[in-house]
Amino acid sequence: MKYFPVSLRLEGQPVTIIGGGAIATRRVELLSGCGARVTVIAGKASGQMLRFAAEGDVTLIERAYRHGDLAGARLVLVATDDAAVNHAVWEEAHQGNIPINVADDPGRCDFILPALVERGSLSIAISTNGRSPALAARLRRRLSGMFGPEYGRMIDVLDSVRQRLKQTPLDFDQKKRVLYRLIDSDLARLVRESDSTAIAARIDRALGEAASDPTERESVGKVLIVGAGPGNPELITVRGLECLRSADVVLHDRLIDPALLREARPDAELIDVGKRRGDQGRMQGFIHESMVAHARRGKIVCRLKGGDPFVFGRGGEEARALTEADVPFEIIPGVTSAIAGPAAAGIPVTHRDRAHSFLVMTGSRANDAAEEEWTGAASLIAGGGTLVVMMGLAHLETIAGRLESAGCPSNTPAAVVARGTLPDQDVRVGTLADIVGRAKGVVSPAIAVFGDVVEERSKLEALRQP
Ligand code: SAH
Repeated sequence: MKYFPVSLRLEGQPVTIIGGGAIATRRVELLSGCGARVTVIAGKASGQMLRFAAEGDVTLIERAYRHGDLAGARLVLVATDDAAVNHAVWEEAHQGNIPINVADDPGRCDFILPALVERGSLSIAISTNGRSPALAARLRRRLSGMFGPEYGRMIDVLDSVRQRLKQTPLDFDQKKRVLYRLIDSDLARLVRESDSTAIAARIDRALGEAASDPTERESVGKVLIVGAGPGNPELITVRGLECLRSADVVLHDRLIDPALLREARPDAELIDVGKRRGDQGRMQGFIHESMVAHARRGKIVCRLKGGDPFVFGRGGEEARALTEADVPFEIIPGVTSAIAGPAAAGIPVTHRDRAHSFLVMTGSRANDAAEEEWTGAASLIAGGGTLVVMMGLAHLETIAGRLESAGCPSNTPAAVVARGTLPDQDVRVGTLADIVGRAKGVVSPAIAVFGDVVEERSKLEALRQP
């Protein structure tokens, strides 16, 4: 069974409800909110229903249903717990060709009521064609979280812009572009913050751009460079998730959790641009080209990157490529594994009275990184600071060797955190002297941490025990 989704105009129209309990009362609220003239026929009415009647929102007839009660009704809704009554009403409605809904009786429903998220003039209706009200309820909860009250007010703003556009000489496509550009901007946030000055400025800018630049930017979309967080899919930011869910195209790194990718729209195009050894340069060029090409076709592109986009993520290069191509973009920071990895293992990268600084280095250049980088790192550790090495698992032995020859004592506390924040997180703890042996067999991605803060782990672990 597949229902045809429509939104009915019921203002001033007669609607009859049979039943006066909780379900009937909810239906009354919904229908009188749409301006319908509601008549309720019920032997027994809820307190709320009596209040509605007293306030004149409904006409309440306090008696049992009788054949003929549906005369003139445009729509009938039944919610009684008497199967015989439900059946009799259904028969009368069918004879009179009046669409009917019988609560909890899908076989006797000409129409069904969707789960609703309402924000002012915005109505998001969810239907499972009557097959899973539970899923509809959960989706409704999810959508309620995604679309706050600002979306209702945003419609008021956009409607006023539409009225203003009517006074301009812009053509249909140009007007549409102004509205899309506003919607794709940070308008929702500005409305949420009730920042009327900034809203007015955004509107003026969008109108100004359309007037001065009618063709060139024609259908340019936008690139959202989003940090996905350190691994666990729940550690993306609220704004990051919002961007991912809104994208037409998602260009993602190899290490992004599949659960996170499932948050993308079902019709979004997902492209794995994860770099494999040897094709780094070529792939980076491809990423720049695809971001620009899709955005120029008017698409919203989410460039989803592990951790924070600007921490060893080549996010800076990607932002520069977009600037050069004159493609609008936004950077959404992420939780970096440089800090979250150690944290998930109980290692704070700074600690009062113990570590006042931390340094994040790449280990992939351990063989050729300048001597000064390692002497710098070693003296930072000697001063109580923390060294975090990323991309260093394959070179751990060289890294440990370089730190030792730069003067780092062999008893310096060290840890390797592999697959931090993920269910199979694997933490190995030791010293500079033995960490290579202890880290045998760990599976990437992994981070190495050197410095006194590593010892805090055992204390934090002890605190966590009951
Ligand atoms: N932009 C990312 C880092 C990209 S470089 C960020 O901010 O986190 C890739 C390196 O990050 C890996 O080699 C590894 O050192 C580290 N890494 C990423 N995810 C990790 C995780 N879940 N646990 C430990 N290290 C991780």
